[in-house]
Amino acid sequence: MERQALDSRTLLNTKDFVPESFSGPIWIAGPCSAESEDQITTLGNALRGAGISYFRCGVWKPRTRPNSFEGLGEKALPWLQTLQKDAGLKVIVEVANARHVEAILNAELSAVWIGARTTVNPFAVQEIADALRGTNIPVLVKNPINPDINLWIGALERLYQVGLTRLSACHRGFSTYVQARFRNLPYWEIPLELKRLNPQLPVITDVSHITGDASLIPPIAQKALDIGFDGLMVEVHPDPKNALSDAQQQLTPAEFLELMFNLRISRKDIPDSALQATLHLLREEIDLADRQLIEILQYRLSIASKIGQLKQQSGITFFQQDRYGEVLDKTSQYARLLKLNHQ
Ligand code: PEP
Ligand code: MN
Repeated sequence: MERQALDSRTLLNTKDFVPESFSGPIWIAGPCSAESEDQITTLGNALRGAGISYFRCGVWKPRTRPNSFEGLGEKALPWLQTLQKDAGLKVIVEVANARHVEAILNAELSAVWIGARTTVNPFAVQEIADALRGTNIPVLVKNPINPDINLWIGALERLYQVGLTRLSACHRGFSTYVQARFRNLPYWEIPLELKRLNPQLPVITDVSHITGDASLIPPIAQKALDIGFDGLMVEVHPDPKNALSDAQQQLTPAEFLELMFNLRISRKDIPDSALQATLHLLREEIDLADRQLIEILQYRLSIASKIGQLKQQSGITFFQQDRYGEVLDKTSQYARLLKLNHQ
């Protein structure tokens, strides 16, 4: 499949999403939604000192169906202000329109994020960008719910064009109609492409909304760090079972601290020259194998085109169900024999 040509007019020169200099991953943790002052204080006490960069908290919740808990709105903002003052945590909240932005700026919270359902809408993103103009507050942009990298880039560009440079992106997976293991399919190649186009842009993985299931979080968090993403967003709740939104995917503070402690953090640079030389040789082998694969594909195409011509001359349909089934069976059998996994 040919990749859609990307409009990379703006190479985002982002900086300082995380204010203090840091060497490890960026951690963003907190509840799906603010539910009570007690919940926020308890969680703040559990997470202070853990070394997270931001305490996340939903205040206005974009729910798929009406008549479910839609967040407490502005009522929750004083609790978050207190958290910033007393627990020394920086708070990041989701905004979806100019009214939300105004409330967050008045409350002097530290940062905002744009949710997946908002990133899909250029009008809403532009409204938020205009409301943020002149502030340079850190903004985290989640991917749109559909796998469209240009919408994601477009949202970042709209913010960048009003002078916001403290930008980062958050990969939270993509909606799917089919029942799958994950709530949102990761399509890792999309955030990787975003990173390739904008190497400066921190890309954080929201493991809670990708998995939709607390028990699946640790391996996905490890995978995100192993791939080289810059940090993790994790939903944490003092009592996940009784959470008013996203109850299945939130970790307890103890589970979150255990996750932080157990993750293996690989370094991005290649430290010693012997390792560098070995990697170089292996990469040359990979490059050669890739060229051979392309040559083999070209050879296969030339045979297929001869078959096509023959069928056309003889008035036979191009597609023959039996032969198609036979090719699929034979190739997958052989792949299994060579232990090539389905995933
Ligand atoms: C959230 O982070 O609570 C949220 C609503 O996320 P998303 O926009 O990724 O669905
Ligand atoms: Mn949530």
